[in-house]
Amino acid sequence: MKDTLKHQGMRNQLAKTVAAKGITDKKVIEAIKSIPRHLFMDSSFEDHAYQDKAFPIAANQTISQPYTVAFQTQLLEIRPGDKILEIGTGSGYQCAVLIEMGAQVYTIERQNELFKKTSRFLSKIGYKPKKIIFGDGYKGLPDEAPFDGIIVTAGAPFVPKPLMSQLKVGGKLVIPVGDEIQTMTRFTRTSEKEFKKETYGDFRFVPLLEDRN
Ligand code: SAH
Repeated sequence: MKDTLKHQGMRNQLAKTVAAKGITDKKVIEAIKSIPRHLFMDSSFEDHAYQDKAFPIAANQTISQPYTVAFQTQLLEIRPGDKILEIGTGSGYQCAVLIEMGAQVYTIERQNELFKKTSRFLSKIGYKPKKIIFGDGYKGLPDEAPFDGIIVTAGAPFVPKPLMSQLKVGGKLVIPVGDEIQTMTRFTRTSEKEFKKETYGDFRFVPLLEDRN
């Protein structure tokens, strides 16, 4: 587990690429500069870590493309101390970005192998979520609700109701919605009963899987 000046240089370059693609939130850019993304991937794939691409990790899953991570994070409009729920822990990279920006993160992963691996890894490199949970993201985390923000990092065939109801008034749900291709969608809870919906173009994610039972 090494982080070198060469890695730092590549990270600065990646941050520039992401900024050039339209990410303006400085804290997101700073997080990309700080977090050693290569450590979130198998060491034999290190060369791919600082390209702006998604990449396979364990259990048939992917670490999202840095631009996509940045885009979704920017839509959350994080303030330090915000309580954020992430659905789809995966490699833990998105979680680390949120922590680096000062959020209190709760994250759910439904694949046991990834849950175990990433729990160990995140504590080893010092990015500690408030809670990392092995469970089904469709249900959200009612015991810890309400949240300032909820981010779904897999393609959702529909918007799970529990996620909407677990938002604070003023809170935001950022979720890619669709089957093959997803529309990035942001819901802002404007009152107990009302939500504002905004859409932000097409993306491609691995699917948010329904309960295995
Ligand atoms: N945020 C991750 C991206 C992981 S890809 C990262 O930065 O690396 C999406 C993840 O969602 C996968 O790990 C997948 O196992 C997980 N997932 C799929 N369906 C889920 C569900 N119903 N509940 C929780 N996690 C789920």
